[in-house]
Amino acid sequence: MMDIRTTLQQAARDLNASGSPSPRLDAEVLLMRCLGMDRLQFLMQPERELSQEEAAGFARWVERRSLGEPVAYIIGTKEFWSLRFEVGREVLIPRPETECLIEEVLRFYRSPGEDLRVLDIGTGSGAIGVVLARELPAARVAVTDVSPGAIAVARRNALAHGVAGRMEFVQGDLFEGISGDWDIVCSNPPYIPEGVYNLLPTGIRDFEPRGALIAGPDGLDFHRRIIREGGHRLKTGGRIFLEIGEGQRDRVATIFREEGHCDDISFRKDYGGIDRVASARKKVR
Ligand code: SAH
Repeated sequence: MMDIRTTLQQAARDLNASGSPSPRLDAEVLLMRCLGMDRLQFLMQPERELSQEEAAGFARWVERRSLGEPVAYIIGTKEFWSLRFEVGREVLIPRPETECLIEEVLRFYRSPGEDLRVLDIGTGSGAIGVVLARELPAARVAVTDVSPGAIAVARRNALAHGVAGRMEFVQGDLFEGISGDWDIVCSNPPYIPEGVYNLLPTGIRDFEPRGALIAGPDGLDFHRRIIREGGHRLKTGGRIFLEIGEGQRDRVATIFREEGHCDDISFRKDYGGIDRVASARKKVR
């Protein structure tokens, strides 16, 4: 029998040997979840012994991690905007950079009483749509995804966070099945150029859905379509918010200008200093 402290030390060593960049943290998160304990309980009881079942379950999780599987898929959840989101292999794991998109939306729309219509395209786990529904308590939020599995996960996350009653879940290709006009159209669509796919870390390439990542030769296929179509779907004065990848800023600005529906084009950097969010306003004619 082994206690928490020894189990952690051993797992961290194994994960380090298998190449994890964060072996100690991985081991802690996996063991906490395996034992159903929070961080405080965990720290207070370093000598608590693991049962045989617990030890076996944990060993299987460490094995999966050592084969490169992201911790979020192993434990089935990921924190985003300080909320716990269910994730599974059918959805992208929400990234901290995407919180910048939320912040940018809230910079323009922070009054909670505003009766807004919000559309989140390619919602995946529902991260963006669910957080905006919570932050804008009078808003109605529709989320779309081409993946039925993603729509199911997004719906469960909306239920878990108490906002499903103000949300609508649509499976389809971008704006397919969506009608009416919108105050806010936002999206973190796929934006990795095809040719770069093979260079991605194995944890991403081997585990996250390809259809959540790849977007044509220059990574901007979805941005082009969303900016073009979004121009017709926005209310006058409404805003579009798109997450972008490193080096895509100038081309996205050009797409906005060429499509011509929007002005007030602006960009926001993430905390790593990379232009991460593009936004623009539907022109008042
Ligand atoms: N918005 C989520 C997920 C981003 S991954 C987040 O920020 O975490 C991109 C998502 O776009 C995936 O869920 C993928 O299934 C979806 N997607 C890809 N092509 C699509 C299309 N043609 N129409 C709608 N959604 C699409």
